[in-house]
Amino acid sequence: MRALVATTRTNGALRTDVDHCIEGELVSIDEYCDCCRIDPGSCGCGLAFSGLSSHRMTTTAQVAQVPLSESEVREAIRSSLHAGGWLDPSFCSRALAHQLVEEAWSRVRHVATHYPVGTVLGRSLDHVYERQEVGPEAG
Ligand SMILES: [Zn+2]
Repeated sequence: MRALVATTRTNGALRTDVDHCIEGELVSIDEYCDCCRIDPGSCGCGLAFSGLSSHRMTTTAQVAQVPLSESEVREAIRSSLHAGGWLDPSFCSRALAHQLVEEAWSRVRHVATHYPVGTVLGRSLDHVYERQEVGPEAG
């Protein structure tokens, strides 16, 4: 099935690029902080995808066909949120935890089915866009 994975393709072409993820790991499109709402690059989260394994950021993701089922991708999202402390039962009910996972999965699914496999994507807040490959002569 289609999902989003971290890629180094085109990363570094923009001054705001960061790449702290593991190449090929699943990524999600997380909520961004209030600072980034005002200035999308302020902490970087408004421009970045989140690695579900590394819990780090990258500004480039790629649509990929992954050998996982939908429930496995959802579980990857859930376990990443859990590992990050976002689903702590002291403040996150089971219903809210379910909703957070579903919303995260919905964002990934929407983008991963909208663009062809292999498309490199960037992000600015709620907007996800296709990044252009840069040839060596244009560098
Ligand atoms: Zn931020």
